[in-house]
Amino acid sequence: AEELIIKSEKLAVVGQLAAGVAHEIRNPLTSLKGFIQLMRSTVDGKHEYFQIMLTELDRIESIIQEFLLFAKPQISDFRYVDPCHMLGQVIAIMQTQAMLNNVQIVNDVGSDMPAIWCDENHIKQVFMNLLKNSIEAMPTGGAIHVTSRSGPDGMVTFQVVDNGCGIPPERIPKLGEPFYTTKEKGTGLGLMVSHRIVEAHRGTLSIRSVVGKGTTVEISLPTDPPDDAESTEKAAP
Ligand code: ADP
Ligand code: MG
Repeated sequence: AEELIIKSEKLAVVGQLAAGVAHEIRNPLTSLKGFIQLMRSTVDGKHEYFQIMLTELDRIESIIQEFLLFAKPQISDFRYVDPCHMLGQVIAIMQTQAMLNNVQIVNDVGSDMPAIWCDENHIKQVFMNLLKNSIEAMPTGGAIHVTSRSGPDGMVTFQVVDNGCGIPPERIPKLGEPFYTTKEKGTGLGLMVSHRIVEAHRGTLSIRSVVGKGTTVEISLPTDPPDDAESTEKAAP
């Protein structure tokens, strides 16, 4: 048991270090961006170079932002959360991006769902990542349905269903690998971070997809906290 604690402490230190580095990079990045914007407005000619620099800086920024979410020392805040209310809030946040892309998001999560035991901000982040992917998979618009059902196993299962471009079967195993992306401006971190968060909740995440038809991401999350008292009793000799 002692070794386990040491290991997880080591991991926490690495995570903190990484988060610290990422955080430190953000400030000079912001100042770089500011000066490039200033130069663009005052220097004549070669404006496209400024635009390229700004686009690349944006890319670094989004990688760092997503990385920070993942590496941030986990100050987790677990509570009972009402799924219908939570999804309503997430969808509201994503609505502008959806509308700009001609995408309709339908919240089919019932108000009769049992509460789930989760870190609300982390699970919201997961759904935002999934909705963002679905929107990006529908360049000419479409619909996303978010559904839920509660099982007898103490889990609530959510589905994010889109009718976007779909994913070829040979690419499915690559999903969730860090930096795997098929998008010009992608980071390839969204699914990895989502997967880690769901795992930390003792849940599961799975993806089914048909090219040209759409993609369904299924997430199951427990309704109750782990029974720690029981598991330590069982572990004792
Ligand atoms: P990113 O969105 O930055 O590319 P993600 O980890 O979120 O990174 O997704 C990885 C890849 O998985 C995407 O580049 C895309 O090819 C594929 N993908 C994820 N979700 C969907 C979806 N709903 N429809 C089609 N492709 C998807
Ligand atoms: Mg993504």
